[in-house]
Amino acid sequence: MSFVFRCEIVPVVKTQFESLPLSPALLGVIRELAYTQPTPIQAASIPTLVAGHDLIGQSKTGSGKTAAFALSILQRVSLPLREVQALVLCPTRELSAQVTREFRTLGRKHPGFTVAEFVGGQPGKSQRDALARGTHVVVGTPGRVLDHLQKGSLTTNAIVTVVLDEADRMLDMGFGPDVETILNRLPKSRQTVLFSATIPKSIAIICKAHMQTPVRVRIDEPEEARLEIRQLRLDTRPDEKFHALCWLLSKFPHNSALIFCNLKQTVIELTDKLESAGLSVGRLDGGLEQFHRDQILARFRNQSVRLLVATDVAGRGIDVEGLDLVINYEFPRQTDIYVHRIGRTGRAGRAGVAISLSGHNDKERIREIESNTGVAIEVLEQGPVNLSEVGPLLRALARPCSMQTILISGGRKDKVRAGDILGALTGDAGGISGSNVGIIEIQDKLSYVAVARPASRLAVQRLNDGRIKGKRFRATLVEGQKLDDAQAQAEARKKKSTNRRSPRSR
Ligand code: ADP
Ligand code: MG
Repeated sequence: MSFVFRCEIVPVVKTQFESLPLSPALLGVIRELAYTQPTPIQAASIPTLVAGHDLIGQSKTGSGKTAAFALSILQRVSLPLREVQALVLCPTRELSAQVTREFRTLGRKHPGFTVAEFVGGQPGKSQRDALARGTHVVVGTPGRVLDHLQKGSLTTNAIVTVVLDEADRMLDMGFGPDVETILNRLPKSRQTVLFSATIPKSIAIICKAHMQTPVRVRIDEPEEARLEIRQLRLDTRPDEKFHALCWLLSKFPHNSALIFCNLKQTVIELTDKLESAGLSVGRLDGGLEQFHRDQILARFRNQSVRLLVATDVAGRGIDVEGLDLVINYEFPRQTDIYVHRIGRTGRAGRAGVAISLSGHNDKERIREIESNTGVAIEVLEQGPVNLSEVGPLLRALARPCSMQTILISGGRKDKVRAGDILGALTGDAGGISGSNVGIIEIQDKLSYVAVARPASRLAVQRLNDGRIKGKRFRATLVEGQKLDDAQAQAEARKKKSTNRRSPRSR
């Protein structure tokens, strides 16, 4: 690296949230979320961020970086000033959605706080409307944010903080020039915050050009923390891969498993194969419309789909509570992709297992990964024995999920809140026990609710017969991704939304 940061060695001591510069409102939300302690990156970066300094943050995935910057922004935001005060740039739509959700959760005790999501595949009009109404924070992908800057719909004069989240990923995806243009258009006096798993030269150049004496915070996890993810690999011949996968799925018990492939084509083929065998599976790749990507993620998150097969781009940054197994069906081509993939499990201190199917050609890369991460990948000596036995394995795996997802045709824009849906299901009119209702996810125009399978048909009926917030909405059971297609088309026609495919999606 050709220049020197003002580098502060931040001692990692056990800090309490109460000793961080956060308001009682924020501490209240943190208590409700049952976050007992700040993670090391939060403890180390929040004081610097709240003080308004530039910061370069580096820590492993799942270490709570989102809350680190979201809490700091919320601490500094002026609610009466209904102008954009913070801009967060993310590499993908999924990640933007996640960050937006986290802002909403953490900002729920800030009366009138609003955050808007600016991503492609959504009508620019709704984004302009959000700006016209006055929004405090904008989260989005560089392309769409730049659109709004150039059209003049997004004004920058009140922006005091810009965050580049997963900066290395953003540059990998070719967003470098867009990011530069955006940074050049922001007020000079603003705070610039950058989070990145790695700081390659390209990032160092951006930091030098756009930051003012940044504080650099880097959290090297202690040895034992790395053991939260158990890393294994199984040497497999290409023609035995499917069999090996089924064997792994039956051998390693899981609530939710994420299966990574290098290519969209493999994702499609593998999903088809698993689906035909009756497994609870969905796919996530750049070839899907945004609606489908959101829907399958919602179903995976609320545990009504057990397996998700994904490409790297689509699966980037996915944060699913209780994801206990990651499988690399195709061995990743680069070390940092490997690290990102396995980081999807073992989130926030929970244990996880990551298993890679490796072949003869992967030896060199495995060595590279082991030397870069400093951790040896355990070799599974014993794989599946009888290759003719994939049938029984599949039959044993083909059990339905205990939850099912119901799609409701109203969302945040219709003033629908989670409590309203819960009320409609469990109230006098609903008659369904609260223990049968799982995660409720409210999106802009739609909502998803997970309901225990035995109660799901009744729940659909009750939702269709009853009212939410005095209004009637349509509720449908989401069965499989194939069915989703028909549903999505109907939905798309109804909403006349303009879902476009991102040219960058893989
Ligand atoms: P990163 O951006 O570093 O990859 P995230 O911000 O996505 O990580 O956080 C990972 C998970 O940890 C999220 O589910 C988040 O809700 C949770 N989390 C964040 N901070 C804490 C905390 N202090 N205690 C417990 N869980 C936390
Ligand atoms: Mg993150």
